[in-house]
Order: sequence, then structure tokens, then C-alpha cells
Amino acid sequence: MKPAADVIIVGGGPAGSTAGIALARRGVRALLLDKKRFPRDKPCGGGIRYGVLRRFPELADHLRRTVALHEIRRVRMESPCGAAVVAELEAPLYLTFRRLEFDAALLDLARALGVEVVEGARVVAIERGADGVAVRSVDGRAFAAPMVIGADGVNSIVARQAGLSDGFTDDALAIDTMEETDLAELAVADTETMYVAYGYKGCPGYGYVFPKRRHVDAGVGFLLSFFKTRLRGTPYDHHRRFLDEATAKGVVSGRSNRGNFKAYRLPLAGPIARTFADRVMVCGDAGGFVNSYTGEGIYYAMVTGQHAGETAAIALEKGDFTEATLSRYEARWRREIGEELADSVRVQRRLFSNPGLADSIIRAAASDARLCRLLARVALGEEALRRRKLEMAWRFFRAALRRRIGRYLSLIAA
Ligand SMILES: Cc1cc2nc3c(=O)[nH]c(=O)nc-3n(C[C@H](O)[C@H](O)[C@H](O)COP(=O)(O)OP(=O)(O)OC[C@H]3O[C@@H](n4cnc5c(N)ncnc54)[C@H](O)[C@@H]3O)c2cc1C
Repeated sequence: MKPAADVIIVGGGPAGSTAGIALARRGVRALLLDKKRFPRDKPCGGGIRYGVLRRFPELADHLRRTVALHEIRRVRMESPCGAAVVAELEAPLYLTFRRLEFDAALLDLARALGVEVVEGARVVAIERGADGVAVRSVDGRAFAAPMVIGADGVNSIVARQAGLSDGFTDDALAIDTMEETDLAELAVADTETMYVAYGYKGCPGYGYVFPKRRHVDAGVGFLLSFFKTRLRGTPYDHHRRFLDEATAKGVVSGRSNRGNFKAYRLPLAGPIARTFADRVMVCGDAGGFVNSYTGEGIYYAMVTGQHAGETAAIALEKGDFTEATLSRYEARWRREIGEELADSVRVQRRLFSNPGLADSIIRAAASDARLCRLLARVALGEEALRRRKLEMAWRFFRAALRRRIGRYLSLIAA
């Protein structure tokens, strides 16, 4: 087959568009296929760490111009027992937006830079051969290129057909709900404060309320294996209950609009064991690049998309599309986000198996303002856990000790 491009990207979400932008900026001919037509929505809370603007300075102006970005300065963090603390920061620590706008803006930029975009092309097969890769869509079209980047989300065809994954098991997935509703219908008490309930109801998961410019996005998520075996009711039942409770706490007011409700899967067990093969790299959800305890995935999708695009450009220069060259992709993402993602898996395991730990941490944060801010900055990706671990542990034990002594003294006094 005659090559349609130098690189084919499957999927036009944040991972695929960022890969396309990286390729186009290096003068590489890229073809991006997506099964949907844009602007399209993606079930999501629509929140990203503020640091994305520093990490991608070349995208910052475009995003600020074309997307209604909303800055968040405060986060109310709640533990399973209902203990809550509000962290307030001088600088914004999170951005919220509608995925409908954000994803379309990134794809538009990729297109403007020269990426050829074919919408309505659902990829069903990829075949790797000695001369290149053939990508086939459900309507019988075929496209060829020396290399493919799989950015096709949690159900990735590319990862499976390249032998990189058998598909995520229930243990490696969460089911997350979301509802993006107009603020006129479902109002938030404070538009600059986001609300996160860690270990919601003592379950392995979380609940969230993210104010946006004109909307609020809220939802609740659980490990899928837990949801299927231990919880009763539909995802909407749990979503509704979470919103009712958030209403009772004064976080939101108004009512849930079922028409805006969606539930979707997201990988929550860290990156897959191998993210490249001959002529193939996978990025974003397709490679499992999601923070295991916060569910943040957009930032990692963009970071891995960029590394995949840049590695593909190097492979083209060398004329070598084998694993030997594409292994650079994995080395690059590991250097930048490997530790962070590995830490998120460890934190998830400890927090999800021990709801009491989240209670103690939030209580400690309530009595130590610096710990509270550090906790918020680490959870929202503005600070690396490893850099702050010792200080956080020390502050946590100091606060816990103070609490114990306080309880002991009040017992004696009584
Ligand atoms: C309810 C919920 C809430 C979330 N909230 C947040 C949040 O607030 N912040 C955050 O950072 N992350 C959040 N996430 C995770 C985040 O949505 C994902 O990590 C992120 O979208 C991954 O980007 P991506 O580009 O890898 O994949 P996607 O955004 O899923 O894009 C994949 C693209 O590939 C296309 N595609 C799929 N299959 C094919 C095919 N066979 N052929 C052609 N095209 C195909 C799709 O149409 C889609 O456009 C949430 C997830 C869920 C489910």
C-alpha cells in the first residue's frame, strides 16, 4: 500500500492531538484518525493541574484564547468519615474546562499545523509488516504508514493488536461517573473551590465537584471490581446519592440533571508493562497513563502524546522503526512521569485498603496549615510526592501526636 503519511495517529483526544502537534512542529506528515466527529464530548471531570501551562508553554496562549478555562484556588478535601479541610493557595492550582471545547481546541491546532485529520474513521485492525503498518477502519478503508501511535483511549485497539495489552481487567479499571450541568441548574457554593471526597463512603474511590466557568462537573468513581462485587445499584444511583450528600453539605444546590449524566471506564493500575513495539507506540489512556488515586489522566495523555510524537520524528530521521529506537519513548516518559505514576499506584493501594488512613491524614491537615497546602499541591500534581514525603510524614506524625496528647490531657482533666 502507498503510505498515507509518515505516522498514523489513532485517536484525537489530548494524547493523539498532542502527538500530532509534536509531529507537525517537526515537519512530519501525520494522519490522525478518530471514530467521532469533533467537537465531541468525553466523559470527564474536565480538570487539569495548573502546571500544564508551564509544561506546554507553546499551547498556553492557544488554550487561553479558545477554551473557557476556569482557575481554581481552593480545594476542600474530605475523608471517608466526613472530616474536611480547605486548602487555599495564593496561586491557582487547578484549571477546569469543558472537554467538548478543550479537545476540539487541541485537534484544531494540530490541523492548523498541518496534521491531516479524518473524522468518522473507526479503526478495527492494524497489521504490521516489513514495509510498514496498515490501519483498517470499519467501513473498509485502509491507510498505511511506517509507524502508528495508538492514542485510542481505554479500550485501545492499537495496544491490543500490537500485543502490548490484552485489554484492562476489572481490577485495573475504575468506573467513574460525571455530570456537566449548567450552573443555573446545579449551582456551587463557591466557584473557586473544588471538592474532593477521598475514599468516598470508605470505598476504594472518590467523589468530586469541579466548578467551571458556566457549568459544574460532578461525579463519583469506584474500582470496577469493587463496584461489581460489593456495591448494589446502578452508577447513577451512586452518583445521585453523592450529589444529594454534597447538597446537604452545602457544596452544591439545585438538582442533578440525568440527561447530562455519563459513566465511563478509566485505567487505574498504572502504565501497562510495555508501551512500544516494532512500529508502534501507545500513549494516554491506551497505555494506562492515569494517576491511580486521583484519576487525573489528561495531563499524562498530553505528556506521553508529545514524547511519542517526538520519538516518532527521531525514528523517521534514522529510518529505524524497530523497538530499539522506539524504546526511547518509554525511557523519556519514565524519566518525566514514571516516578509520579508509580507513587500514585502505591498511594492508591494504601489509601483504598485503609480508609482510616485518609481520615487521619485529613485530620492532621486540619491542624497544620502547611501540611494541608502540601497535601493539596501533591494531590493536584503541583508538587512531587517524593520531594515532600519526609516533611509531610513528619508533619503528619507531629499532628497525630498532638491530637493524642490533647485527648489524653482532656481525659485527665475530666
Ligand atoms: C468520568 C471520568 C472523569 C474523569 N475526570 C478527569 C479529570 O477531571 N481530569 C483528568 O485529567 N482526567 C480525568 N479523567 C480521565 C481522562 O478523561 C482520560 O485520562 C483522558 O481523556 C485520556 O486522554 P486520551 O487522549 O488518552 O483518550 P481519550 O480522551 O479517551 O481519546 C481517545 C480518542 O480516541 C478515539 N477512538 C477510540 N477508539 C477508536 C478507534 N477504534 N478508532 C478511531 N478512534 C478511536 C475516541 O473517539 C477519542 O476521541 C476522567 C475519566 C472519566 C471516565
